[in-house]
Amino acid sequence: MPDDSLRPDVGAPPDAHPDTLAIRSGRGHNGTDLAPVIHPTTTFVTPTVEAGRRMATSVGSVGFYSRYGNPSVAAFESAVAELEGAEAARAFASGSGATAAVVLGLCSSGDHIVTQRQLYAGTQLLFQMVCPRFGIDVTFVDGTEPGAFAAAVRPGKTVLVLAETPANPKLAIVDLDEIGSIRGPVTAVDSTFATPLATRPLDHGVDLVVHSATKALAGHNDASLGVVAGSRELIDWIWGFAVLQGANASPYDASNGLRGLRTLPVRFERQSATARVLAEVLEADGRVDAVHYPGLASHPQFELAQRQMRLPGGLVTFDLAGGLDAGRAFVESVQIAQLASSLGGPETLVTHPASTTHVNLTPDELAAAGIGPGTIRMSVGLEHPDDLTRDLRRALDAIGA
Ligand SMILES: *Cc1c(COP(=O)(O)O)cnc(C)c1O
Repeated sequence: MPDDSLRPDVGAPPDAHPDTLAIRSGRGHNGTDLAPVIHPTTTFVTPTVEAGRRMATSVGSVGFYSRYGNPSVAAFESAVAELEGAEAARAFASGSGATAAVVLGLCSSGDHIVTQRQLYAGTQLLFQMVCPRFGIDVTFVDGTEPGAFAAAVRPGKTVLVLAETPANPKLAIVDLDEIGSIRGPVTAVDSTFATPLATRPLDHGVDLVVHSATKALAGHNDASLGVVAGSRELIDWIWGFAVLQGANASPYDASNGLRGLRTLPVRFERQSATARVLAEVLEADGRVDAVHYPGLASHPQFELAQRQMRLPGGLVTFDLAGGLDAGRAFVESVQIAQLASSLGGPETLVTHPASTTHVNLTPDELAAAGIGPGTIRMSVGLEHPDDLTRDLRRALDAIGA
């Protein structure tokens, strides 16, 4: 353990901008080291029986056993908490681990959950396949319909409301003020696409914010990581489930996550700026049927996006006029963008759900999931926008649509 008496001043002034918070946060477990310190140890030498008793029986102890808490992981957790304006955070081995801990840590048999139809596929399967097995009832609403979440809440029955914004796959926006004003159930928002640079759900009264930090927070496609942030009380409760669930974050991944957070603001700003350019290029091209991007005036919820998002983000979804063949040809024709799942990293990635992740769905099922035969999801990276523009145009030429 670093000697905390050597610790320089930590944290940032409360009125600091996110850019400054990203640099100053998460240093409380770092001793005098400037870069994140990796503590691979699974366990810690307990100085006295009394100290061991205290750590074994207290919530969130760091320095007892790494599944309970690890200093490298704690540094990442406190950095995310500071960026989200939360009291506390708990990191997980993946975003899916974080979501599972929120759902299964808070809900019991007989409870009811309200969520939306527009969801990350893994989260949707958790609600559709796992929750029913445990007697947890789930209602799926249209997350873009005003008041839909609140209307589906059953007083005394609904324990959790979980939203995702912007949401897979067409970047639908959920009104955070609406979610934050729901009283009774715990409210949670999967903010993976937004990052704390675009929205801070807790500022809107939401109880918990969830991230797949595998994506933009870690930001380099080299860490599998999830995180939940909120009040100390809720995070302590989730911790109680998490130590039994065992999806704790690796200290190596947490250190990569903390390193990623340092540059999140510049990466996210650049990706948002380039994504806007590319969305406009695509929208002006006759071979593209529709572009879904919160920064475009054509987005059906443009006003809400303007009101609630500081930046529109780096994801652009679009529908190629040529359908399935065009989609397949497009993702094989790009030369700078690459065909790969995931998002939020330095490399521009494209996916064609209809021929890859969702290949087993019928056309009707695809339509219900908001996916057309020619739908492409693009995560814009950090390459030069002119090179990406040329790459998209070249690929559109190649498909001959
Ligand atoms: C990727 C993703 C997840 C799952 O995160 P993993 O780290 O892959 O487990 C959850 N929600 C959203 C919105 C995602 O994009």
